[in-house]
Amino acid sequence: MTSATDVLGHSVVVFSKNYLPISRVNIKRAIVLLVTGKAEPLDFTSGAGTMVRSPSQILHIPAHIRLTINGNERVWKLPPVNRREVLRRDRHACQYCGSTKHLTLDHVIPRSKGGKHTWDNVVTACEGCNSRKSDRTPHQAGMSLRTLPKAPAHPAVAFAEQFWKEQFTLNAAEESSLSVVGGDT
Ligand SMILES: [Zn+2]
Repeated sequence: MTSATDVLGHSVVVFSKNYLPISRVNIKRAIVLLVTGKAEPLDFTSGAGTMVRSPSQILHIPAHIRLTINGNERVWKLPPVNRREVLRRDRHACQYCGSTKHLTLDHVIPRSKGGKHTWDNVVTACEGCNSRKSDRTPHQAGMSLRTLPKAPAHPAVAFAEQFWKEQFTLNAAEESSLSVVGGDT
C-alpha cells in the first residue's frame, strides 16, 4: 500500500479520446477525471498504477487514462521570438558552448547579412560566444551549433514525442536486461 505522501509524487499519463498521449497529471487530478466520468482507465500494462486507500475503499489508479470527452484544447499560437521564449526553447543554455551564464540572443545569420528574426535564425548564446562570433556566420567564426534551431512544437506534440521516446527507452532497457540473463555463459 502506498502512503499518501508517496502517492502525491505519482503521475498519470492522459490520452486523448483518440488514444494520443497528451499530458501528465497528478493522482488527485486523475481521480477527479475518473470519478466524474471524464476519463476511463487505459492500461496496456496490467498491474501498472497506484493503489490509493480512502477511509471507505481502495482505489486502483491506472498509470494511463483516456479522456472520454473531447479535451478543451485551447487554441495554441506559436510564441513570439523573444528572449524569454528563445531561452526556454534552448533550455537556458548557450547553443555554442552550453554555458548557462550571461545569456543573450544571437542571430545565426547576422541581421547585417540578411538574417531574419525568426525561430530558425535566433538562438541563445552566452556573452562570450556572442562577442567571439561577432558579425559572422557560425561557419565564418569556426563555431558550431549544438542543435538546429526550430520553432517550438505544440505542447501536445512535444509531450507525445517525449512519451514515445520514454516507452522506447523502457523497452530497449528491458530487452537488454533480458539478453544479459540469456547470454550468461
Ligand atoms: Zn557560449
